[in-house]
This record gives sequence, structure tokens and C-alpha cells, in this order.
Amino acid sequence: MTIDEFILALKNASISLTEKQVQQFEQYFNLLIKTNEHVNLTAITDKQEVYLKHFYDSLILAHYVKPLQNESKTLIDIGTGAGFPSLPLKIAFPQLKIVMVDALQKRVNFLKEVVELLDLSNVDIVHGRAEDIGQNNSYREQFDFATARAVARTSVLAEYTLPFVKLGGEFLVMKGAAAEQELADSKKALATLGGSLVKSFDFKLPNGDQRYIQIVSKVTHTPKKYPRQAGTPSKKPIQ
Ligand code: SAH
Repeated sequence: MTIDEFILALKNASISLTEKQVQQFEQYFNLLIKTNEHVNLTAITDKQEVYLKHFYDSLILAHYVKPLQNESKTLIDIGTGAGFPSLPLKIAFPQLKIVMVDALQKRVNFLKEVVELLDLSNVDIVHGRAEDIGQNNSYREQFDFATARAVARTSVLAEYTLPFVKLGGEFLVMKGAAAEQELADSKKALATLGGSLVKSFDFKLPNGDQRYIQIVSKVTHTPKKYPRQAGTPSKKPIQ
């Protein structure tokens, strides 16, 4: 989508961007493409595709989860990579307090550069694995929301994200066509980790791609043994 189409599609979802925010997205795009020449950040480099598949796809989460738009909620983004979905959300909704986690130092370095360039505050960038950070009491059960996009199947993601969510908070699942199957396969993981599905939305991106957003509420504490040791959740998902 062109920038004008981006602005219009967001407006149709009741999300409006100021001129400054539109400019911040341009700056983010330019640094992403420039850095991607020597650091592997994204397979999508065409400008219209980045605006649709990274920026719009990230922001549309806030259309379904309204408190992201105007409440000072805390959000942790596991396996954020080049910053998706949390950085577009932070640009559009600056009152959010976000923590971005990634296991790759080079991606973390890029994120620090973007955050500085855009002059964003209340952003914490953490280098490490979800399995290790999830056992750290400064992060464990501290967040209103945890999310992750394109990191693992839902049963594995539940173990990466739910330990961070406070009681009453939510794990926001962002998925494509496999969403319903992955959710069915994660029944035991959600129950074990303290999650319960409350809502599910399905919709299409403007290009017709199928998307799902599933909202899992944190209803009981995550047992201390989760997340298990780094690597175990993906090798032996709870099921
Ligand atoms: N969320 C981004 C990136 C997806 S690629 C997007 O939607 O575009 C997956 C990212 O997750 C990679 O950057 C990888 O380093 C990170 N990752 C995978 N497993 C992880 C784990 N257990 N803990 C932290 N980061 C992880």
C-alpha cells in the first residue's frame, strides 16, 4: 500500500496518525532498508509491502484491542525482530510502555538505533531469550499485554509469553491461516500456563491475506517451572 493508502486504511479502522507520526514511519522504513543491506532484518523490502505487511499489520492489532490506543498499558513483544508489532504500536500510541525482546544482538542494535532516531521514550530493549527473561522477577507477571508475531506456533508461544502476563492481562495472538489449528493444538499449554481464550477475530488485510487475532486472558499464575530451559518449549511443546 502507498503511504496515502496506509493513512486511509488506518482511518477506516479509527486510527489516525499525525504528520509527525507519518514522518516517523518514513524514518523507520528508511533505516530498516539501509540496515537490512548488511544485517538480516526483513525479507520484505518493497516500500508498499513494508507499509502493508509490517506497519499496517502491526497497527491493526490496536483496532481489536482498544486499550492499546489510549491507555498507558505495558506491552512486551517477544521475538520482535526488526520491531514488529511493538514499534509501530509505540509510534502510533506513544503512551504505551513497551519492552522488546530478541535473542539476536544485531536486531537489538538496530532497534536501539531506531528508538534513538525517533526519540521514543518508555521503550526497553532486552537482548535474550524469552525462556530466560521469563524467569526474571523484574519481568515475570508484570505486563498488561504480551504478544509475538511470526515467532513460533501458538503452543510454544504460550510458554514464551504467558509467564510475562499479570493476572487479568492478556496474551495477544497474531496469526495467519493456521490460527485455528494452532489454537486447538495449544489447549493444554494454555491451561497449564494460566491462559484462557476469551475472544477471537478474523479479518483480511487490504490485499486479501487472512489474519486472526486471538485474545487469551491470564486467569491463574504460571507455575514456577515455566518457561522451561531455553530450547525446550520449541523442542517439546506442552501438549
Ligand atoms: N516479530 C518479528 C520478527 C519475527 S522473526 C516480525 O513479525 O517480523 C522471529 C524473531 O524471534 C527473530 O528475530 C528471533 O531472533 C526471535 N526469537 C526466536 N525465538 C526466540 C526466543 N525464544 N526468545 C527471544 N527471541 C526469539
